[in-house]
Amino acid sequence: MENTLIPAKKLKHVLKFTVEKVIAIEDELNSLDRAIGDGDHGANMSRGCKSLLENIDDIKFDSTADVFISIGNTLISSIGGASGALYGTLFINIGKNMNTGETVNDFIIACEKGIDAMMVLGSSHINQKTMLDVLVPVLEILKEQQTDLSEVARKARNLSNSTINMKAEKGRASYLGDRSIGHLDPGAYSSEVIVCSICEALNNHG
Ligand code: ADP
Ligand code: MG
Repeated sequence: MENTLIPAKKLKHVLKFTVEKVIAIEDELNSLDRAIGDGDHGANMSRGCKSLLENIDDIKFDSTADVFISIGNTLISSIGGASGALYGTLFINIGKNMNTGETVNDFIIACEKGIDAMMVLGSSHINQKTMLDVLVPVLEILKEQQTDLSEVARKARNLSNSTINMKAEKGRASYLGDRSIGHLDPGAYSSEVIVCSICEALNNHG
């Protein structure tokens, strides 16, 4: 990844590529959520992503900050449920914290602020079998190296798989207690697919 952030045209491509990947795993996400939740994570994410596709031409891609804020607002208003508020808060706070500059390092700092806001909203942290088990360590990996995006994607897959052996302590899955162990967390899997799709889109069109 170069030292200046993604140009507007590429950002639009990355967004489109990523939302299409998430829409494509709707059934998989629903069945993961059926096992330990209420079965709607795929429908929720797909609704949010379809809304992003419908509104893509209204997004001002020349400002990275505005792009993230628009994504967050659309996700919050279209998804509902825990994941809409959590992903929405993440993207809005990334956008709000991109105002100081648009280099890769500015982006990493903004992501840190976005994840912090998510943790405050969910009163959650890592090792509770949630999307944070992918997002927090991926950010740490990005801080160390920003060049090998295939390696970032590989680690995101391992991180999401690591939620299988965890006991859920947040969200609906926590009602199951020990019975949540042995299942992949749906939110961790949607985060994996989001991270991997962004890496793939940047690698193929970098
Ligand atoms: P809902 O639980 O309202 O049905 P979804 O099914 O769309 O919402 O999303 C469930 C996912 O949200 C979980 O798999 C988990 O990763 C994530 N999640 C739930 N509660 C929290 C929380 N407090 N903090 C972080 N992530 C959470
Ligand atoms: Mg659910």
